[in-house]
Amino acid sequence: MQIVFGFILAIIVATLAYRAHSLSRSGAVAASFVGTIIFGVGGWQWAILLLTFFITSSGLSRAFKQRKQDLNEKFSKGHERDAGQVFGNGGVATLFVMIHALYPESMVGWVGFAASLAAVNADTWATELGVLNPTPPRMITDLKKRVEKGTSGGISLWGTVASLLGSSVIALLAVLLSPTGILTTAHWFLITFAGLAGSLFDSFLGATVQAMYFCPTDKKETEKHPLHTCGMETIHIRGWKWLDNDWVNFACGAFGVMIALSALAV
Ligand SMILES: [Zn+2]
Repeated sequence: MQIVFGFILAIIVATLAYRAHSLSRSGAVAASFVGTIIFGVGGWQWAILLLTFFITSSGLSRAFKQRKQDLNEKFSKGHERDAGQVFGNGGVATLFVMIHALYPESMVGWVGFAASLAAVNADTWATELGVLNPTPPRMITDLKKRVEKGTSGGISLWGTVASLLGSSVIALLAVLLSPTGILTTAHWFLITFAGLAGSLFDSFLGATVQAMYFCPTDKKETEKHPLHTCGMETIHIRGWKWLDNDWVNFACGAFGVMIALSALAV
């Protein structure tokens, strides 16, 4: 029965997000699928964590629009999220709600779920709020090197603080709403740290192996492929071609989970 409620809630949220242009058509279909499993298999606690991520990240994408306008072309996608982005951000969480269904007594399902959402939430908050940093960011692999705002792999004080906040909000909800035994302040810190680590790993991949392209018309580096915002075809300049932004987000969530679960095992 819960799966039916999950399906209905997922369809409602996805439709509202589609109408508000937070999701593209493919993104709405993917979000309905992810939502049905997370709401339907998990339940209301799981729904609250997912919705907190979804609503705050969509909201922050819209906020400060003016300041971010010039940066938009650096990011591969606008604020309308497609299926790749939905699975990139929610894929690991979906996996862990299924692990919880198989092993309901274990904390692994809930902690893994929370850590993955803490990581993608940290990453989204950092990306959206990091642009407000007064000075240009520094490269995570070379902190002496300043880079243009919006460059993959760039980190800043504002971005890192935003990342910590984004992570700690999810971690706090995870502690308050735990469906599998009591979580403590130590878990709050652990999940917060895991989320921050995931978002730093995301920046690290952005600085090293993520696929990057170049627009010959604008003479600019971009994540966009095959076409740039100007309509010109972009040229691959570095990174692994298959490792696009969606896979980097997936890796961000997976890395957060790995940190949280390995600490849990100690
Ligand atoms: Zn261009």
